[in-house]
Amino acid sequence: MKIVFLTGAGISAPSGIPTFRCEGGLWSTIDINEVATRTAIATKPDEVVKFWDDIRVDMFNKQPNQAHLAISELQSTHDVVVLTQNVDDLHEKAGSKNILHLHGDILHARGFDSLAPTYIGYDKTPIGMRQNIVLFGEPVRDFLIAKQHIIECDVFVVVGTSLNVHPVNSLLKTKFHMQKIIVDIEKHHKYGYENLVGSADVVLPQLIQRWL
Ligand code: NAD
Repeated sequence: MKIVFLTGAGISAPSGIPTFRCEGGLWSTIDINEVATRTAIATKPDEVVKFWDDIRVDMFNKQPNQAHLAISELQSTHDVVVLTQNVDDLHEKAGSKNILHLHGDILHARGFDSLAPTYIGYDKTPIGMRQNIVLFGEPVRDFLIAKQHIIECDVFVVVGTSLNVHPVNSLLKTKFHMQKIIVDIEKHHKYGYENLVGSADVVLPQLIQRWL
């Protein structure tokens, strides 16, 4: 069976990485336009790069939770693809192999005019480079490949995303007839999805028992 997961900040919240939009989340105290847009990085690159370097420092030592681990465990018996909006490396740390970072990832850097990523791990971003992440106004990575995986899958599971960010939120409208499920602490009324309401680290391992 092919199972595709689309994950957002909520899956990493139980690991201690704050979401952006929940109460107390990053965007409740920081203006997106100052640090997270194409214009911001073009006009004040040093400030924006420092902001995301500080985020990376906060991610150091964070460990995958039961949700990341349950997804990884499923790989031994099923064809599993992880489409993530997250820039952290918790799916990798959990052992998942087939991962597409639609919004890039923070452990790679790239030149300001290049999309070619260089692994830097948790080091400071080298001078003349920026984090390999997708800021607002920049194109999403691997979108059509992601869509194709969804079209081909038997089960599509959306985990811990507010579905506010375009175009990734449009992936939920992909025409398909597979089983489709949303796991989130909030109920989302979307296109006939089964809603499992609760924390991803509790609900996802229970859900995954269906297929083990
Ligand atoms: P978001 O902050 O907009 O939404 C978070 C969602 O997670 C909400 O729907 C919330 O109800 C849900 N949630 C919170 N705690 C949860 C839990 N314990 N279990 C299940 N669900 C939970 O985040 P988003 O939708 O991913 O989109 C915003 C952007 O934020 C993405 O592009 C992503 O790259 C970025 N982001 C990434 C990280 C990370 O890499 N860990 C962290 C914060 C934001």
